[in-house]
Amino acid sequence: MNMEKQKAGGFAAWRNLLLWKKIAIALMLGAILGVILNSTGNETAATSIKVVGTAFVSAIKMLIVPLVFVSLVCGMTSVSDMARMGRIGLKTVAFYLGTTAFAITIGVGLALLIQPGVGIELGEAAAMEAREAPPFINTLISIIPTNPVAAAANGNVLQIIFFAIMFGLAINLAGEPAKPLRNLFEALNAAIMKLTEIVISFAPYGVFALITWVAGTYGLDVLLPLGKVIFALYLGCLIHALVVYGGLVSMLTRLNPVRFFQGVIEPQMVAFTSTSSSGTLPVTMTAVQQNLGVGRSVSSFTLPLGATINMDGTCMYQGVAAIFVAQAFGIDLSTGDYFTIILTSTLASIGTAGVPGAGLVMLSLVLTSVGLPLEGVAVIAGIDRILDMARTALNVTGDAACTVVVAKSEDELEEDVYNVPHALKTPV
Ligand code: ASP
Repeated sequence: MNMEKQKAGGFAAWRNLLLWKKIAIALMLGAILGVILNSTGNETAATSIKVVGTAFVSAIKMLIVPLVFVSLVCGMTSVSDMARMGRIGLKTVAFYLGTTAFAITIGVGLALLIQPGVGIELGEAAAMEAREAPPFINTLISIIPTNPVAAAANGNVLQIIFFAIMFGLAINLAGEPAKPLRNLFEALNAAIMKLTEIVISFAPYGVFALITWVAGTYGLDVLLPLGKVIFALYLGCLIHALVVYGGLVSMLTRLNPVRFFQGVIEPQMVAFTSTSSSGTLPVTMTAVQQNLGVGRSVSSFTLPLGATINMDGTCMYQGVAAIFVAQAFGIDLSTGDYFTIILTSTLASIGTAGVPGAGLVMLSLVLTSVGLPLEGVAVIAGIDRILDMARTALNVTGDAACTVVVAKSEDELEEDVYNVPHALKTPV
């Protein structure tokens, strides 16, 4: 009888915990279980647990297309001022590009300081095909979807953004006859946000499964030789988050940056374990709106755009990895080479899709630009998941930081919500 009471009490305590605490506990327990499974030779058990994580990630991905489309149309119909939309767009792009410049500088600086590739002997690796960069103008034009249904079916976020903006504008311009449509989108939005909350409530289980799988499949023997690259990237991500994002949020909004970091902890943890910033988008959207008080008209634009083009973690990773490969192969880079790495890393990060491992594919582009051996990609591939976790967490933090800064400047941030400590808010 007592045992049963205790059990019921335990369940109730777990149910009432705030979501981020549940995710944090899941993260720790999963990591411990994974290490135990790995060291006892039970890697297959760790791999079979992954299925729960895959189910969770699929469920969040299911939300991306309807969420981006519906919330952006609603965002557009709630602002009829075109000049304001243009201003928000400019500020967003400026923030994204500016912070990316900081990220690559920190990455290159740390790689030169820590020298992750010195002393590594690279073994034989399979030759890999380099990826060609598409011409810039083609990339621009391809944002216009020739078939919006195909854009939705393929999950092409930039094309969906374009169509949603045009559609929202058209609803505004059509005026009275389109009013029912506007109401319909409001209703759809309410339902989709609810669905998002339901899916996100499963995050602890998904996170637990994914981290168990990672910790269970990467043994220490894989990680130790490349420990310095991992260290350089993790340190760089931490510095960038705290100094650049924390600094910009506090300088540009005059708000407490600690609240910012408390508010984004859920998307950070989901990004860390799922390694997909596009996949994390619904979680990021809910967090900035509910925890940080950002208005929908800003976040429904800045976040999907950020999940597609703003990847500071990926950019920093390209720089660190390229210098690692040069050092490991004993190749000297000239000043011009460093500039090329900075430029191609920035472009590659803009072109990287917000999905697991996409940055690794783009690394071949950066390496080829300065004539580094593509075998380097194969070496990095061995530990890419670990690097992907940090860079994806940084990518979503950057999207959220930009959203807060732009929202504050547009008077779209409810300070009462922002200033309430996260721990006092009701669980999602
Ligand atoms: N996984 C990263 C993201 O989704 C992209 C990358 O591989 O760098 O943001």
